[in-house]
Amino acid sequence: MAGHCKLTIAVPVYNEESVLPLLLGRTRAVLDDLPGGPHELLFVDDGSRDETLALLRAAAAEDPRITVVALARNFGHQAALTAALAQAAGDAVVLMDGDLQDSPEAIPRFLEAYHEGYDVVYAVRVKRKEGLVLRACYALFYWLISKMSGIRLPRDAGDFCLLSRRVVDHLNGAPERHRYLRGLRAWVGFRQLGIPIEREARASGQPKYNLRRLFSLAFDGIFSFSIVPLRAAAVLGFSTVAISIAAAGFFVYAKLLLQRSPQGFTALAVSIAFFAGVQLIFLGVIGEYVGRIYEEVKRRPLYVVDQVIRGADLWMPNTHKNIAGCTSSIGGGALANR
Ligand code: UDP
Ligand code: MG
Repeated sequence: MAGHCKLTIAVPVYNEESVLPLLLGRTRAVLDDLPGGPHELLFVDDGSRDETLALLRAAAAEDPRITVVALARNFGHQAALTAALAQAAGDAVVLMDGDLQDSPEAIPRFLEAYHEGYDVVYAVRVKRKEGLVLRACYALFYWLISKMSGIRLPRDAGDFCLLSRRVVDHLNGAPERHRYLRGLRAWVGFRQLGIPIEREARASGQPKYNLRRLFSLAFDGIFSFSIVPLRAAAVLGFSTVAISIAAAGFFVYAKLLLQRSPQGFTALAVSIAFFAGVQLIFLGVIGEYVGRIYEEVKRRPLYVVDQVIRGADLWMPNTHKNIAGCTSSIGGGALANR
């Protein structure tokens, strides 16, 4: 099998017009040198509002290896990655960011490991370049998730990775809405290898992840892979009851034997406020799980495909229109899965 696989490089892009020419150049150069094939360069346009889609369409018209899946609106990075996995046709799939923070030149190293028999090969950051506060947050997150979840989530592993076809199929079969792909990838199992790769600075344009989205991704990681926060409520409850019983015993002892009545209105007020706060926090935690159950049971698709562009072919799944007179190989349906 060595050297004869068909690789898909899948890239989610959202308003990346400024990076696109460089991204296309570097990624196509890597594809040119790869043995095997025909390889595929799959872009998922996540509802860009700039010239990204037009640039991609032009690129697809001149390079038959390029496929563009345009989503109907901005569904978010993880949904775009999910769309890419559903659409990728290769024997192995590389997921890569579109801002050149993941250097395409690392892909041959991923392939080497793949041919050695690894099903998942992921990049591990050599050194984080973020500020001290963000780095501390990342460290706290990885510590929390390793303590709370049953799966071993490799530290500082990003989304940049190569997945074998069977892993992609298993991920496509995971129906959950809140997708934390790094976690799901680790959950699948098989042989996995982390390769240290320097993460470059964004080539140009604005990062789309702000602090709020980073936190929401971290929450997805914790709440999708752990019910420890729920257990924490029970543990805290039991501890409080135990402490209260001990305190009650002490006060009875103090009253009967030492003739001292319990005092302290301030202590009472503070402890009531404290436990009201604790209860509200755990109500919030339960609410988080309930909200997630609600979103899961709705079973809404994670994304909607507007069109799939392959060469001069344009397939619009929701209208069942196939423009340019060519027959597309892609099945219909709002999700255009295959
Ligand atoms: N992205 C996307 N949809 C979004 C936000 C981002 O497809 O809603 C893409 C983006 O174009 C880039 C990748 O996801 O290719 C990673 O985004 P970004 O570089 O902003 O994330 P960061 O590097 O800050 O984690
Ligand atoms: Mg980035």
